[in-house]
Amino acid sequence: ERVATTIDKVCAVIPDYPEPGIIFRDLTPLFADGAALREVVDALLRRFEGQFDVVAGVEARGFLLASAAAYAAGVGVLPVRKEGKLPRETYAESYQLEYGTATLEIHRDDIPAGARVLVLDDILATGGTLGAAVKLVERAGLHVAGIGVVMELEGLAGRSNLTGHEVSALYTV
Ligand code: 5GP
Repeated sequence: ERVATTIDKVCAVIPDYPEPGIIFRDLTPLFADGAALREVVDALLRRFEGQFDVVAGVEARGFLLASAAAYAAGVGVLPVRKEGKLPRETYAESYQLEYGTATLEIHRDDIPAGARVLVLDDILATGGTLGAAVKLVERAGLHVAGIGVVMELEGLAGRSNLTGHEVSALYTV
């Protein structure tokens, strides 16, 4: 597919970042390229067309995709934030990182119950992050319409944390 070729062309691959042995995929050149950004957002939207009422994005790179997608689709955005950033009542989910844990939160009542939510992030690695995001959406009484990512790092089996949901990756490596 054309969008996969674009992603392959514009994404930077950084060996040994943030630690020796990790191959980091940097999507900032994609976000910086207007045509590539539009192609990626349009491709994500096409896969879930007519299936969602709101777009959730995971802090911070997911925000960039979610706000662009929501604007294009004419719907609102639900920010899934790192802990301690939201001022009203939240749901919180913790998940394992390689070292330690992390926590994500959403506001309890930003979106009416029953809404269908498209959840976006830049990269699916182990699936811990998106797994927590999906749990939060469901705890808020919302329906997960699907999960979209620009890139899936297949070797890490992230989909096993997302069973029962449609996961669409524009590029797999
Ligand atoms: P996971 O929880 O699936 O292991 O990791 C996904 C999260 O970590 C995503 O929010 C993603 O932004 C970040 N991440 C993991 N690996 C990479 C990488 O190689 N490049 C970038 N840009 N982000 C990564």
